[in-house]
Amino acid sequence: MKIKEIIATLEKFAAPELQEDYDNAGLITGESGWECTGALCTLDVTVETLREAIDNNCNLVIAHHPIVFKGLKRINGNSYVERVIIEAIKNDIAIYAAHTNLDNVILGVNAMIAKRLGLKSITILQPKKKMLRRLITFAPVDKAEDVRNAVFAAGAGQIGKYSECSFNSDGTGTFKAEEGADPYVGEIGERHRERETKIEIVYPFYLEEQVVKALIDNHPYEEVAYDIFTMENVHFGIGAGIIGELEEPADEKDFLKLVKEQFRADGLRHTEMLGKPIKTVAVCGGAGSFLIRKAAQKGSDMYITADVKYHEFFDAEGKLVLVDIGHYESEQFTIDLLYDLLAEKFPTFAVLKTKVNTNPVKYFA
Ligand SMILES: [Zn+2]
Repeated sequence: MKIKEIIATLEKFAAPELQEDYDNAGLITGESGWECTGALCTLDVTVETLREAIDNNCNLVIAHHPIVFKGLKRINGNSYVERVIIEAIKNDIAIYAAHTNLDNVILGVNAMIAKRLGLKSITILQPKKKMLRRLITFAPVDKAEDVRNAVFAAGAGQIGKYSECSFNSDGTGTFKAEEGADPYVGEIGERHRERETKIEIVYPFYLEEQVVKALIDNHPYEEVAYDIFTMENVHFGIGAGIIGELEEPADEKDFLKLVKEQFRADGLRHTEMLGKPIKTVAVCGGAGSFLIRKAAQKGSDMYITADVKYHEFFDAEGKLVLVDIGHYESEQFTIDLLYDLLAEKFPTFAVLKTKVNTNPVKYFA
């Protein structure tokens, strides 16, 4: 199996186009055309995890955090990032990162956190706008089904848990083929009237190329008429953080105890308890201070995230209990997510989870 086949599986789940502007997710070292000998899943790439990959005959390391993030001007081994890159290249190891694109899909990093906490009815805390586009096209009535099928097969027409969604209305199209044209119906130089179906279908923006290609390739006309609109709607499956409900309201202290256990945290930093039961919980793996107000606005009793700075704790404003469980702690189950995605799709292929704890933060207790 080629590395690109593994990447395709990961990117079908979390499209690289969904990463934030500042991010550097994707293939960082190695070539997608290499034959893959085995894949090792990890949160961070360190020299130790590279060593582990080599010892286990894996030439692909799949990480959540991109080892090259800000760009490198020299690669002389002065920093751990440079040393990892040197080691990876010397040993023909490909490094692939699924970072904010994996944060931004509803079944990604945050769903793993929500699952650990037993949250039900999860939705995205801050869904993104302008993720969806609408395609409008016109096909002869008897060819409309072929066109719809082709566009559906390219991934269009998915709305939440429904697929093959479209709206269709019949009407009359007109056109006059000019000299040199090769019309599917009608005569050169004469205005033709054709019964057509207007087909409207939505799709996420990153599928545009394949959707338009499917349309053109499967439409009978020489010149295919179509319109594309960017929609203002939010996409409920794409965005930051997750909010959900506990099956039974929990006592604040009991719930914090559960959080500490589930995430194997050596310590939790949190704002003052509010003396009320916890029912609605928001979560965001990694640095999630930017969602504190959103979590409060949406009625969360507790917001669980990481990398909260001193002044940001004040932003809880007594509206919720803000809990910092640690960056590594919050995202550690992303390793299982990456592993499960591949193990399910390629049951006989060598996929491993790292045994190295890459958390650089230690607690002195
Ligand atoms: Zn992170």
